[in-house]
Amino acid sequence: MIVAKFGGTSLADGARFRHVAEIIRADPNRRYVVVSAPGKRCDSDIKVTDLLYRFQQSGNQADFAPIEARFREIVEDLGISLDLSQDFAEMKQLPHNADYLASCGEYLSARIMAAFLDWPFVDAEECVFFDEQGNLDEVKTRHALFEKLRRLPHAVLPGYYGVMPDGQIHTFSRGGSDISGALVASAMDAQVYENWTDVDGMLVTDPRIVPQAAPLRAITYKELRELAYRGATVLHEDSVLPVRRSGIPIHILNTFRPQAPGSWIVPRGEKPDGPITGIAGRKNYTAIQIERENTNSMVGYVRRILSCLEHWNVPFEHLATGLGSVCLVVPTDAMEDCREQLKEDITLAVHPDSILMEDHLAMIAVVGRGMTGRPGVCARLFSALGGSGISVRVIDQGAGEMNVIVGVAEPDFEPAIRAIHREFFE
Ligand code: ASP
Repeated sequence: MIVAKFGGTSLADGARFRHVAEIIRADPNRRYVVVSAPGKRCDSDIKVTDLLYRFQQSGNQADFAPIEARFREIVEDLGISLDLSQDFAEMKQLPHNADYLASCGEYLSARIMAAFLDWPFVDAEECVFFDEQGNLDEVKTRHALFEKLRRLPHAVLPGYYGVMPDGQIHTFSRGGSDISGALVASAMDAQVYENWTDVDGMLVTDPRIVPQAAPLRAITYKELRELAYRGATVLHEDSVLPVRRSGIPIHILNTFRPQAPGSWIVPRGEKPDGPITGIAGRKNYTAIQIERENTNSMVGYVRRILSCLEHWNVPFEHLATGLGSVCLVVPTDAMEDCREQLKEDITLAVHPDSILMEDHLAMIAVVGRGMTGRPGVCARLFSALGGSGISVRVIDQGAGEMNVIVGVAEPDFEPAIRAIHREFFE
């Protein structure tokens, strides 16, 4: 059994609804479908969710007109007899809470798709639950989804929203229909969670840096986490957790090229041909360099430094130590309000000979389960960087051998990613 989620671009107009319905019908295992609100039809278009937020903010009835027109057009184009006048009348009746209005795009999308497929519509309001603080109540949600859906051979559900204990509609953060889809897949113990979008899958690296970056075939959840943490994006981050926990693979597919193989995100992957699965990175890190003679015999030296970071709530991401030197890599933003105090505290705590904060560092993660036990990967990586005249400022590799992190100066960030891509993928 497959749970399929379709993104907004896949549902931008009547023709695309029809195309999505064809995809759904092409495999009888696709039994539960989660939809987003209609997205952009072309680059200059506005997503329905954005139109809804605009209407909420302006309170101007004229701003509801394009929303109503979008949905009326889709219904007409599909040739279904679905009267949404009542719904439009209620939506137009301001004031509403912002989340309620934002949820209307998904609600209407799902009503239309259900009518077109002649499948039951199941409202997320009845089976996706948040607590008073607005956090997802996953246990209650899974139970409710299962109880509702197990009696139905098919269903269409709206993504993006659920309900609070007081009955108010509440939405996930933007792009949250991915989470709704993952919750349905996990509650129904699907064999696959299909996530239909407008790209061929997850690319090996950022196409803005390497335009020819190819989609990757299979990536494990562990690898995905490493890459996502370093800035790779395709799915909403929180959407991975429910399916990952249930051991369900995610298949990312392109609605506009359904024959393309797409990308698989799997609990465990076979050993791939190449050592590297993907490359991702982020800028805006600071290296804190602390020097002091003879620290190798001082027990507790690093702990005292780390306590200062903890005190100022600064997370550190990498730590390299040598005889007499400690280098910590931290996100620059995290020190925005406490840079000088942190420096002072470290000075008081360990009396260093010098302490230097160097900004404008970029950290790049080179990730691949195929690296494990394969000699020579680092040699290739560093000669690729050296050959491009890039100086490596920080190196980090754990014994897990699945991830090598290199820190370079920010201006070297894009050239470094291009050099690594050339070495391993071209
Ligand atoms: N429609 C919502 C958004 O634009 C949620 C989604 O599409 O996943 O963010």
